[in-house]
Amino acid sequence: MGSMLESAHKMIERVASKLELTEGQVSELTTADKVHYFDIEVADKTHHAYRVQHSNKRGPYKGGIRFHADVDEDEVRALALLMSLKTAAVGIPMGGGKGGVVIDPRKHDDTHVEAVARAYVQNLHEHIGPHKDVPAPDVNTNSEIIDWMVDEFAKISGDQTKASFTGKSLKNGGSKGREEATGRGGMIVLREHLKSIQKDPKTVTVAVQGVGNVGFWFAKLAEQELGVRIIAVADSKRTLVIKDFTNNQDRLSLEPYNGHKRGMIEDLDSRYTEFLPSDEVVKLDVEVLVLAALGDVVTEDNLDNVKAPILLELANGPVTDEAYDRLTQQGTVIVPDIIANAGGVIVSYLEWLQNIESESWDEDRVNQKLEQILGSASKKMIETAKQQKISLKEAAFSMAIEELLN
Ligand code: NAD
Repeated sequence: MGSMLESAHKMIERVASKLELTEGQVSELTTADKVHYFDIEVADKTHHAYRVQHSNKRGPYKGGIRFHADVDEDEVRALALLMSLKTAAVGIPMGGGKGGVVIDPRKHDDTHVEAVARAYVQNLHEHIGPHKDVPAPDVNTNSEIIDWMVDEFAKISGDQTKASFTGKSLKNGGSKGREEATGRGGMIVLREHLKSIQKDPKTVTVAVQGVGNVGFWFAKLAEQELGVRIIAVADSKRTLVIKDFTNNQDRLSLEPYNGHKRGMIEDLDSRYTEFLPSDEVVKLDVEVLVLAALGDVVTEDNLDNVKAPILLELANGPVTDEAYDRLTQQGTVIVPDIIANAGGVIVSYLEWLQNIESESWDEDRVNQKLEQILGSASKKMIETAKQQKISLKEAAFSMAIEELLN
């Protein structure tokens, strides 16, 4: 079993014993409703593809489609389960699913990628749709790919609502505020946590691993709207950090920065900054370490190097179960993925709602709804953890599990 799947199952079992669940209930939570497998053949190449439909008990299956050479069934299963937990934890009427295609899109031209995207829908069209299963973009998929999928689905099914997929381009029924939503959500959840420990955000130093869609928007909004001091950002190649940041008040300004389109750091003003190797970001002596790159990045092998007392999980499953145990015992607070990165799926839900109701909301309205839904889920998680003397992760999982078994 892949470690992300293992970690999610372990956390469910841990919470299950506290909630005194039966074995049957645990297996209901961990078993997917359906797994679709198929091969996509384009230009003499075969790409294995998956769609895992984990749970539709609370609404249509919901979750992204990932295009990556390392996609495997366990990973897709883990991500589908996390989606069910996420939608339940924040209380939106959707279920959980995830898709994947084994392909490295950088090695193929657009014509090939478009043919793969359309073939994915041709294989799956009977099982998806606005009230069945609503996929979205994920790693290496974007609004352009989703627009091709929407078009293919409309051709086959006649559906004109465009509510069959979310993460569409704005001109094709996408929602304002979607691009920033996961980063904005992370900022909301961090703000609530800092409030609960009575910490003034302006005194808080933050390092961010990953400056793609999620990490970039988190850093920019947390700096502008929360006032935290971003002192480092890292991509897959290097970490950009303020020199000697514990002894000065300098901060990285992300204002002129546009590198998030490629997820890579640009050479910003170098008078105050220096570059370190990419993995040094997790070792920095900061107040908050934001994990916004990949899963399984804090493990038993490197947890002793983690100095930050607060970890904000914006990627899915960035802290393994073993690392979670040891860090929590040491007093490190882990703000869990299923709440911390739920901003994306919440605005996806709002996009779906706008499509179903033939509406187009302005960005303020989208952000206000996101604030309402995620602000109150964060407060509930923090309150539950305090009352029951459990970790934030256990609180989030128990909120989700209670919803899912209801
Ligand atoms: P992205 O591809 O836009 O950006 C990924 C970033 O991580 C890039 O800056 C890349 O350089 C960096 N990176 C990759 N490997 C790294 C490494 N080894 N060390 C340091 N940095 C590394 O992806 P994204 O959309 O920002 O998503 C980031 C994570 O958040 C993923 O795990 C994704 O599943 C999760 N997530 C995304 C959303 C969303 O709305 N996009 C929602 C929920 C969860």
